[in-house]
Amino acid sequence: MTIADNLQTVQASIAQACRRSDRDSAGVSLVAVSKTWAADAIVPALDAGHRLFGENRVQEAQSKWPALRDAYPESRLHLIGHLQTNKAADAVDLFDVIETVDRAKLATAIARAQEKAGRQIDCLVQVNTGAEPQKGGVLPDGLSELVRFCREDATLNVTGLMCIPPADQEPAPHFAFLARMARDHGLATLSMGMSADYPIAIEQGATLVRVGTAIFGQRSRPA
Ligand SMILES: *Cc1c(COP(=O)(O)O)cnc(C)c1O
Repeated sequence: MTIADNLQTVQASIAQACRRSDRDSAGVSLVAVSKTWAADAIVPALDAGHRLFGENRVQEAQSKWPALRDAYPESRLHLIGHLQTNKAADAVDLFDVIETVDRAKLATAIARAQEKAGRQIDCLVQVNTGAEPQKGGVLPDGLSELVRFCREDATLNVTGLMCIPPADQEPAPHFAFLARMARDHGLATLSMGMSADYPIAIEQGATLVRVGTAIFGQRSRPA
């Protein structure tokens, strides 16, 4: 199977999950997660017409994407990994969406970087739905205050929520929980679902699914 074949297979599964849940497939976008893969593995996806990608590290993305962007100017890039405040300026320069805003200090750093760059990007707030100590994301209890801070104090363009459910639990309840929190806060974008569970995430309302392995194959080094 080529990367183009894999993309087609994933898009077909997305369409199927949309039909099952009575949703318009135009409402679900596929973020192809290219972390750990070199440019020559990403080019086949671009050549197949795919334009939306996710990376989890600022530095790694900086080493690949400026050149890929020159060659494929319509490509768009989401940051899906933890962001340190001292990398906020680099992230604002390179990414179109930061999916991992999870604390006020980071929101402030992004706001400052945006002001300096004269560029405003979309942000999602990452929620640690399973309250796992090692995982990024604001705890559900702190979500309302963080969303308020992002909107009113940092004036970020917050468009939605993102989560990564605990690996050892059924994902559906976490996806449903995230969908309810998004609804409660008037947020339309829901980034949830990875290779193992994106059809389930779509049934629970995902508008962005982040899929790596099912497109590019098994990663040889841990992300
Ligand atoms: C790596 C990663 C993905 C993609 O995971 P796969 O299982 O390879 O599809 C999705 N979201 C985040 C935040 C990731 O770090």
